[in-house]
Parts: sequence; C-alpha cells; structure tokens
Amino acid sequence: MFHPSRRDALVAASLAAAFGLDKPFAFIDEAEAQTTPDPAVGFHRYKVGSIEVTALYDGIWEKPHDPAFIKNASIDETKEALAKAGLTTAFVSIPLTVVVLKLGERYVMVDSGSGAGQWQPTATKLASNMAAAGIDPARIDTILLSHFHPDHIFGLMNRNTDAPVFPQAEIVVSATEYKWWTEPGRVGALPEARKALGQRINAVFPGWKNFRLVEGEPEVAPGVRLVKAPGHTPGHAAYHVSSGNEQLMMSNDTFYVPALLAPHPDWQGTYDQDSALAVETRRGLIERVLAEKMLICGAHFPFPGLGSFAKDGAAYAFTPAKA
Ligand SMILES: [Zn+2]
Repeated sequence: MFHPSRRDALVAASLAAAFGLDKPFAFIDEAEAQTTPDPAVGFHRYKVGSIEVTALYDGIWEKPHDPAFIKNASIDETKEALAKAGLTTAFVSIPLTVVVLKLGERYVMVDSGSGAGQWQPTATKLASNMAAAGIDPARIDTILLSHFHPDHIFGLMNRNTDAPVFPQAEIVVSATEYKWWTEPGRVGALPEARKALGQRINAVFPGWKNFRLVEGEPEVAPGVRLVKAPGHTPGHAAYHVSSGNEQLMMSNDTFYVPALLAPHPDWQGTYDQDSALAVETRRGLIERVLAEKMLICGAHFPFPGLGSFAKDGAAYAFTPAKA
C-alpha cells in the first residue's frame, strides 16, 4: 500500500493550489512527486546582439526508465550517459524551458510551455516565472512554434475549456507540421498514445484565426528565421536568431536531452517520429552551429537551456551553461 509522505502531501497541496482546486489531491503517485529542486531563480536573461533573450523555467519531467525509450540503447547505457553528465540515474531528467525574445518593443515567445500541469504535474511554473521576469503574457505579439507535442503547445490552451491563452498573439508554425496533424484521417492513423493529442489539435486549432502557416525557411520576425529540422516530427522547426555578429540557434527538440544525444547522436528515441531523419537533422544542425560559432539553446537542455557543444570523435561533448 502506498503511504504518502509529508513531502508528498505538501506537493499535492501546492499542485492543487496551482490548478485552482479547492481540495488537495487525495493521492499522488510517487513518480509524480518531484525530487529535482527548482532553480533558485526561474528566469535567466542574456543578449544576442541587441536582442534580449529571457529563458523561463516551466518545470521538469522525471521520466521513469523504460526499455523502449531509446531503440538502440539499453537502460544501462542510458544510465551510464546520465551519470557521465553528472545527472541522477534514478530517472531521466527532462526539464522544460520556454524562451521569450524582446525585439525592440516586440515580444516573441518560442513555444508556449506545457500549460500549468497539462503535460506533467511537475511542470507548472511558466506563468510565475514569466511574472517574476516582468513579462506580461498579454504583451506577447508572436508565438513561434517548434512542433505540436504537448509540452510545446498545451500552454496555448486553457486546460478546461481549450480557450486560447494568447488570443492577441500571431501563432507561427511550419505549414508541414500544421497540415500533417490536421489532414483528414490523421487522428485514426496515429498511434494509440498520440490519439488524444491529435483529437485535441483537430478540435481546437482549425477554429483559431491567429495561425500563420509558413513554407520553407522564411524570416518570421526581425532577425529570426525558421530552420527546418524534421525527424522529431514531420514539420519540427528550429529558429535561428541573428543580431549584429551574434547568432543563436534555438534547437528546440533536435537534441532533446543532450546528456544522452551529444555523446550518442545516433541514438534513436521513441520521441523521434522518423529516427533516421532526426539523426541526420541533429548532425547537420550541430555542424552548422559549430562551423559558425553560434550559441545554442534547447527546450530540454538543463535550465537555463543554453550550453556548448564540442566535437568528440564522431560525437559531441556537451557542457550546460550555469544559470
Ligand atoms: Zn519537447
């Protein structure tokens, strides 16, 4: 029998408060009780030329080990890579960081976060960290989406009503991504685990008028260009930010958890829809970043989501930036 500890009870109470529930959860699974401390300050600012970048911590998924997670690596090999990166081997740490770019007076957010617990009950902090950073969500002019997985789009939708959380913002997404998820017959063809996501996308997004679908690799905001990075999903996009002689590659989910994929860029995760294409994209993107000496950030890099890569034989060594 499961006996919630005092800490679990506290976690349950704080989650209940975050969800606006009047009663704490009666039960919280051990896997949902967060053991990773949040960063002391949940936002981090840096500059790319004249562009101000704010990294905002949403939370973390402490993913239980699962033999299917990496198709061509065992749990032991996964644990070994985590240990080498100085991470716990008790679970796979998958943190989530959302970035807001300030371009003059214009606020551009990349992805929307996971919607206050709609992805994982331990990822609820985007709104409070945005407030702490002094960013008013009503002032977000543009949202650039990387892809349609829950941790990147659920923050667009009210958890109960699906009402738009950012109705004033233009939402930019690759036409390939949008069309793939919404084409006739798609929901039926999705694997069981993705059907609910597909149904929600199809029930909600076609009714919104603020989507802008883009083809190719256009400039989508001043100094910001979409970079096609398919494999994770068919229309997965990175974004390239350039100002003066500084560049930032927002790799989004191309390198997923770099503790695993920098030393093993050919590992094929279940999270990548087309594994072979994801590997090709991953290698191509990082070679460009290294050749042009860009900064690189990623949605699931350790907070603040920035780090540096170096060549290490046929693979890469990753060093996370400290907040
Ligand atoms: Zn993701």
